[in-house]
Amino acid sequence: MHVELKNQRQLNTLVKVLEESKFRFLCPKCLRGFSTSTLLYRHFRQKMDLIHQGLDSSRHDFDLFIYCYQACMGPSITATNIPSVPRCFEISYIIQHHGEGTESLDSQNSDHVQAYIPKSYTVLRNFVVPVYYDVQPRGYNQKNATILSQRRVRHLQKLHDEDVEARIRALLPEVENWLSGTLRLPKDISHDPGNITPSVDVDRQLVPVRDLLYRGYGSFALIRTSRDVLSPQNISKAVYTVLKVDGPGFIGTQKVAVGESILVKNQVILTAGLILLISVSPAVVVGGGMT
Ligand SMILES: [Zn+2]
Repeated sequence: MHVELKNQRQLNTLVKVLEESKFRFLCPKCLRGFSTSTLLYRHFRQKMDLIHQGLDSSRHDFDLFIYCYQACMGPSITATNIPSVPRCFEISYIIQHHGEGTESLDSQNSDHVQAYIPKSYTVLRNFVVPVYYDVQPRGYNQKNATILSQRRVRHLQKLHDEDVEARIRALLPEVENWLSGTLRLPKDISHDPGNITPSVDVDRQLVPVRDLLYRGYGSFALIRTSRDVLSPQNISKAVYTVLKVDGPGFIGTQKVAVGESILVKNQVILTAGLILLISVSPAVVVGGGMT
């Protein structure tokens, strides 16, 4: 208690010192001080990484803004409890809330770590991927399966389903060579766009996996990341199923493993080394039995 009081007193003094200084705002990413919001925003625009660009995007892309702000500040920040800009960049607010929530992550939530922040991002403007459509309904043998209520699942929640995950992992050895051949890594790194998409039809080989994930006529995409990239724009709200992990293996803030599926509701950062089946369907079956 004594130590806490001492710490609190020192913190109060420090906040006062900062408030009396010429700085009014802090960049939540690098914690640099700025005297006006104009200078702060100029700093965001001068930095080329996605987090700084995202901090500048509250007016035109609020989802990206929240994602980047949360990546800097910690998991307890949500779209509803954040003060409006530029108040959320004021020194006292940043000092009080920076890192909040990281102390209390319980074991149940242990895979929800602080947002993975790669050193450099590839922000692909108008990143669209080829989308394929089912010619026949999928999941015909899943008539009695529980359908996932997507509205009750939060952004980046894993659709836990041990049975499906095990069956996907069992299917993968058969398609592994095909996957790496279809999604060939570029030989010349300087021409590496960060994402690799198929140039051939991928319907047939992915039928067994899709049959496990959903029922009915769906649409889907297949991508491989060779750099940290922002997920594609044209299929950003979808179920992302992991077919391969090389590297850190993050989808947004979630660490993912082969076979797992996760519901993504808006654009997130995908780390390098992932192969993902992205699917949109009328009836998601994977994770439907979650309580
Ligand atoms: Zn900064």
